[in-house]
Amino acid sequence: MNFADLGLSPEVLKAVGDSGYDTPTPIQEKAIPYVLMGRDVLGTAQTGTGKTAGFTLPMIDILASGQAKARMPRSLILEPTRELAAQVAENFENYGKYSKLSMALLIGGVSFSDQEAKLDKGADVLIATPGRLLDHVERGKVLLNGVKTLVIDEADRMMDMGFIPDVERIVALMPPLRQTLFFSATMSKEMRKLADKFLINPKEVSVSPPTAMAATVTQGLLMVEKAEKRPALRRLLQKEEMKTAFIFCNRKKDVDILHGSLVKHGFSAGALHGDLNQAQRTETLDKFKKGEIKLLVCSDVAARGIDVSSVSHVFNFDVPSHAEDYIHRIGRTGRAGMEGHAFTIATKSDAKYLEAIYKLVGMKIPAITVDGMEEIAEEASEIAAREKRTSSRGTKTGRSRSVSSKKEAPKESSSRKSAEPSRAAEVTVKDKPPSAERTRRPRHANDEGDTQVVGLGDNVPAFFKIPFRKSAEK
Ligand code: AMP
Repeated sequence: MNFADLGLSPEVLKAVGDSGYDTPTPIQEKAIPYVLMGRDVLGTAQTGTGKTAGFTLPMIDILASGQAKARMPRSLILEPTRELAAQVAENFENYGKYSKLSMALLIGGVSFSDQEAKLDKGADVLIATPGRLLDHVERGKVLLNGVKTLVIDEADRMMDMGFIPDVERIVALMPPLRQTLFFSATMSKEMRKLADKFLINPKEVSVSPPTAMAATVTQGLLMVEKAEKRPALRRLLQKEEMKTAFIFCNRKKDVDILHGSLVKHGFSAGALHGDLNQAQRTETLDKFKKGEIKLLVCSDVAARGIDVSSVSHVFNFDVPSHAEDYIHRIGRTGRAGMEGHAFTIATKSDAKYLEAIYKLVGMKIPAITVDGMEEIAEEASEIAAREKRTSSRGTKTGRSRSVSSKKEAPKESSSRKSAEPSRAAEVTVKDKPPSAERTRRPRHANDEGDTQVVGLGDNVPAFFKIPFRKSAEK
């Protein structure tokens, strides 16, 4: 089958051809004809399967007839993170280049005013994260009763992030007679129940998770003592022939510490997590995509949906506490049949998480060793001794251990700053949210607690790289 058999318009086919794709992926083959028919679709598909084009291509054709009115978008795509929303917007721009459609991307961390201007002009498609969309709704800047096509993408992720009440509020503002496309990487009972609320007689389409990636990804497990993790990682990084690599930590504070440490040791590294402002996130990810930064230390949002091709390696500096995250993380490498390598650094205390991963992937991660374990142990004991000294100094001066460990951070982050100058100073706050906004939802969004891993940026078109207002994100 090729794209021309799916019933898409010549304009869309031309744009697809320009992208260099000639064969639809299984989810595209299964979903596109039904979307074009106007059916509701319940899709089980992960990112990486081509599902974005699976809904954007037919939507472009559906929207080709009709005209947008001010503040009344004709279609809406809900995404759990800004990065995914920005990625979908890019897809829309690419595939919609021969079809004169207007689009507004409503994500947090950037100015309201530009988004409002787009809404005022009238948008054929809105691509939004739930929180920012509700902000606009509350400000009276957008009406959803003209939405005829709704996409709820990454629904399981929305649930993990606590967005479902927001999604329900949004859907309640739409006409019941609409077409709804609901995608989720997993289809649990809970997901089905949720889908039942939003869909009418949907066509179910499903593609199996890309387990094939296991065939092209070489995996390895390095068991070390806790204090040996950083020196062990450095050894691995030196040993491997790498193009670019993701390095995953479970906590944002560890992302910062590890990033600072790598920079201090002369590695070309950037850091991404939800505490960084949008401009920094965008800039860092751009640099990583261009290969100007070789290593991207990040938290788990990176593992979902961020589309960076030719990543040769993934390192799990921490074993993920949710087994599925292991699959998402290592799926960042070995894409499109290319070779990939995924190494996990673990300590004895990770045993139960490793067991959960083995159960999920149906295999054990092969154990590996690195040369120079003795030196690593020596380095680790030096680090431990240094930390102990710092800690006891802190105690003597009445400081707690956590304070003393924080003392180390500024030193490391200052070296980071010199490598990647922060753009925070350039950023101004243009819009103040209504005061209710600051108290309303507990902003689960973007949404890192110190215990929960989150946060990575992706490339947002340059004109969206405007001010960041922290209060809007929380
Ligand atoms: P997605 O699952 O939508 O995030 O897409 C994953 C990657 O597959 C993106 O880089 C897309 O550009 C790419 N892609 C989408 N459709 C196709 C296709 N038919 N053939 C090859 N690659 C595709």
